Amino acid sequence: MSRLAVVGGGWAGLAAAVELRRAAPHADIHLFEAASEFGGRARGLEWQSPQGRVPIDHGQHLVLGAHRAFLRLLDDCRAACSQDPGSTHAFVWHCQGSALHFGRSAAPWGLIEGGIQTLADQIRGKSGGWPWAWQAAMLRLLWTAQQRRWTTSGTVSELLESLGQPQGLIEALWQPMAESALNTGITEAPAAIFLELLRRTVAGPRDSLAIWHPQENLSTAAVAPVVAWLRARGVGLHPRSRRRVAELRAAGFSGAVMAISPRHRPHTLADRAPGTAVPHPLPEPRWRGILTLFLLRPTGCEDPGRIDIVHPAGVGNIPLVRLHRPPGPWGQVEAWVASALPSREQPEAVADIRAQLRALALQRLESDGLSAEYLFEHHDPLATWACDNDGTQRPWRLPLPTNDGPMALRWAGDDGAEGLPATIESAVLSGQAAARALLSAVG
Ligand SMILES: Cc1cc2nc3c(=O)[nH]c(=O)nc-3n(C[C@H](O)[C@H](O)[C@H](O)COP(=O)(O)OP(=O)(O)OC[C@H]3O[C@@H](n4cnc5c(N)ncnc54)[C@H](O)[C@@H]3O)c2cc1C
Repeated sequence: MSRLAVVGGGWAGLAAAVELRRAAPHADIHLFEAASEFGGRARGLEWQSPQGRVPIDHGQHLVLGAHRAFLRLLDDCRAACSQDPGSTHAFVWHCQGSALHFGRSAAPWGLIEGGIQTLADQIRGKSGGWPWAWQAAMLRLLWTAQQRRWTTSGTVSELLESLGQPQGLIEALWQPMAESALNTGITEAPAAIFLELLRRTVAGPRDSLAIWHPQENLSTAAVAPVVAWLRARGVGLHPRSRRRVAELRAAGFSGAVMAISPRHRPHTLADRAPGTAVPHPLPEPRWRGILTLFLLRPTGCEDPGRIDIVHPAGVGNIPLVRLHRPPGPWGQVEAWVASALPSREQPEAVADIRAQLRALALQRLESDGLSAEYLFEHHDPLATWACDNDGTQRPWRLPLPTNDGPMALRWAGDDGAEGLPATIESAVLSGQAAARALLSAVG
């Protein structure tokens, strides 16, 4: 019987372990995670607020309906464990008093449905209108994304300019959207990846425009069912277990999926078998930070049944996405997310943004008669990597070894899905592919 390991219990590792178990029902499979909980960067947190326990996440996560691999994985594991699913919501983009609705379905229906609601809001005087020129320009870009795969090099800002997108629309919609999806400024982010994301979202299957949101947090709605599924199928689960490649070989594993982020890879490669060169130093991506401020309103909230994204916040030219999480007995939490922050390269500049946002959030709370205890700050300086090339050149992946003596190795992580940025979906796709490659290597 093969003995297989998965190292890293983030979404790449969870997906790899599920894939291995499905394809090799008799193998002895073990999942090792250094932290005390599974889920990695996309897991839930609990905030002990003045209202008691408030479920939030390790940074606000947006999961689009187009993230099929992740949602399918959840559906399969939930069906087996009968856990509470999250729900999907249509989203509305608010900007300077105007609201732009998106339907849940793929184009053209989602856009038509959204267009009708946007118009209805305007007629009822509920919101100001998005200028017609903006709406026409937006449709032109979405149409381009749907019609063809973009192979030209060039940045998002060059693409927007070449398609005659108005400056106001760029600032109100495309810039914050691209920066939060690609974790990179539009003058650096590749147009090819941005268009691929739009294509998957707009031209994807049913519900691809909707945003999935956990009922409570990512741990309860997503991590727990997958972990329960693995446990029920005899996969050895080992939290608080950091493993190196050499330790796995010594323990008699015939193959391993190393599902860990680039910054942890050098550590796992130390002490490899004599004669197998360890690339040193391993290159690292340009890390980008994400700052999330969670503001709690204990009373007076209703379930909007949709996700409202509000932009901008008024701090310099930082695009900020503000999102209302579905309410619960604790009240309602609003998340403010600033992405693509050069937290490692320019810590002082980011500290300044953080101070300004905090001041703005406190002002907001004060106007509702609430104190600083109703604010929770989360800053991950190594949240994601800058998506500054089209994905075909990710230098930090190139030297990764595919064996350690007789043990086969495959690598996974959110940087392993070619042509896609760092997302839970990329992690899942990469974990699944690495598991399949490992199985064909060990036979
Ligand atoms: C604040 C924030 C906001 C984000 N927003 C979004 C979003 O809106 N939408 C979206 O799709 N994505 C978002 N992301 C990105 C998403 O969270 C990641 O792309 C994804 O979770 C990465 O999964 P992974 O498995 O590749 O890596 P990780 O989650 O980093 O998992 C790797 C795991 O390996 C473990 N590990 C490392 N070394 C070892 C070892 N030697 N032995 C055992 N275990 C080890 C680590 O503890 C970790 O748990 C966001 C990320 C952050 C931080």
